[in-house]
Amino acid sequence: MSTSKGYNPFTIAQAEFDRVAGRIELDEGARQLLRNPLREYHFQIPVRMDDGSVKVFRGYRVQHNDARGPCKGGIRFHPQETADTVRALSMWMTWKCAVADVPLGGGKGGIICDPHDLSPREQEGLCRGWVRQVSRNVGPVQDVPAPDVMTSPQHMLWMMDEYEVLHGGHFPGMITGKPVGMGGSRGRTQATGYGVVYTLREALRELDLDPADTTASVQGFGNVSQYAIELYHRLGGKTLCVSCWDQRDQASYAYFKAEGIDLQELRDITDSFGGIDKVRAAELGYEILDGDAWLDREVDILLPCALENQLTAESVQRISQQVKVVAEGANGPTTPEADAVLQERDIFVIPDFLANAGGVTCSYFEQVQSNQNFFWEEGDVLSRLDLKMTAAFHDVHDVAQRRRVPMRDAAYMVAIGKVAAACRDRGWV
Ligand code: NAD
Repeated sequence: MSTSKGYNPFTIAQAEFDRVAGRIELDEGARQLLRNPLREYHFQIPVRMDDGSVKVFRGYRVQHNDARGPCKGGIRFHPQETADTVRALSMWMTWKCAVADVPLGGGKGGIICDPHDLSPREQEGLCRGWVRQVSRNVGPVQDVPAPDVMTSPQHMLWMMDEYEVLHGGHFPGMITGKPVGMGGSRGRTQATGYGVVYTLREALRELDLDPADTTASVQGFGNVSQYAIELYHRLGGKTLCVSCWDQRDQASYAYFKAEGIDLQELRDITDSFGGIDKVRAAELGYEILDGDAWLDREVDILLPCALENQLTAESVQRISQQVKVVAEGANGPTTPEADAVLQERDIFVIPDFLANAGGVTCSYFEQVQSNQNFFWEEGDVLSRLDLKMTAAFHDVHDVAQRRRVPMRDAAYMVAIGKVAAACRDRGWV
C-alpha cells in the first residue's frame, strides 16, 4: 500500500490549527488543550495465526477531544499506520463532528497491518484483540469507533461481539458501520461518498455550473470514491479517470477513458479493497497510466478519495488549468503548500472535514437508531444526510464570504469556535 509521501499529517494538522487559532484570537488555554489529543492508547495485539504461530501487531486509539460528546472516528488497517497519523485523524474528527453539527467529539484508531496478507480468521483475531485492549476506554458513552481504510462492516461486527462478550449485554451503540440487520444503518455505505457530492453540488451551484456540464477525475476506487462517482453520475457528471493501488505490482495506476468510465463495469473487476484488475481493465479499453496521472487530466473537478498528502507542492503543479473544484473525499489529501497553490489559482476547495463529513453524520444516525432499536428507511437516512451536509456547507460558505477567507479556514473557524466554546462552557479552559 502506498505511503503518505513522507509528510507528517500531525505536524500539518497542528500547523493548520495554530494558523486559524491565531486568526480567531483563541485564548492560550484553549490553544494548548486543542492542539494535542486528550488521551492516547498504544498497545500490542497478539494474534494466533493460521499456521499456529503468534504474531504481535501494534494498535492505537487516540481521543482528541470529547467536550461536545463521546469521541467518534474510524479504525484503519494499514501497513504504514503511525501514531502521528492517528493523532492527526483524531483531531480532524473533532473538527468534522463540529462542522457537521453532530453532538460528538473526535477519536481515531488503527492497527499496523496489511489485511491483504491475513485470512478472515486472522482478521477476526485482530479485531477481537483490538477491542480487548481498549474495552474499558471505548463504548457508547465514551468513544464510538467506525470503519475506515481497509476495515469493513464485518470487522465492526466482530468488534461489537467481543465488546458485548466482555461487558455482558447488548451494546449496538458501541460501534457504527455495522452490517444492516445487525444494528447498521441503511445508507451508511453510501454516506461518505454521497456526502462529498452533496457538498460538491452546492459548490457548483455557487459557481453557477451545472453538474451535467462537468467532468471529474478521482483518486481511489474504494468506498468513498465509488459512491461519490455513483451520485455524481446521477447528477449528470462524467468521470474520465480513476486511480487506485495495485496490490500485485505494489504500485498505483490511473484508469482513463476519454468518453467517461462505466462505473458498474469497473466495480465488476474491483476487489473488496478497491483495487481494479489491471488486465481486465485493459481488455475493456481503459488506458492505463501512472498512478498520479489522475491529477493532470483535463477535467473540471478533482476528487482525491484515497489517502492523505497526495496533493503536494510538486504534484499540484500537474493540475490542469481547467480544474475549478477540488472536493476532498479523503482525509488530509492536500499539503499546506499545495493548498496555497490551489488558493492562488482560485480553485474552489471543499475541505476534507466538511466534504467527507457524511460518514460521521450517518454514523451518528446509526448510533441514534441503535440506541433506540428503531431503524429508518434508506430514503429517510439519505434525505436527512443531504439536509445536514447542505446546511454544513452553507454555514462554512457564509463564514468564508463574510470573513473573505478560503473554505478551509472558514471550516476551521466554525469548528474550532464550537469546540472551544464547549470546553469553555464546561469550565475546562
Ligand atoms: P478504501 O480502503 O475503501 O479505499 C481506498 C482506495 O484508495 C482504494 O481504491 C485504494 O486502491 C486506493 N489507493 C490507495 N493508495 C493509493 C494511491 N497511492 N493511489 C491511488 N489510489 C490509492 O477507503 P475509503 O473508506 O474509501 O477511504 C478513503 C479515504 O477517505 C481515506 O482518507 C479515509 O480516511 C477517508 N474517509 C473515509 C470515510 C468512510 O466512511 N469510509 C469517511 C471519511 C473519510
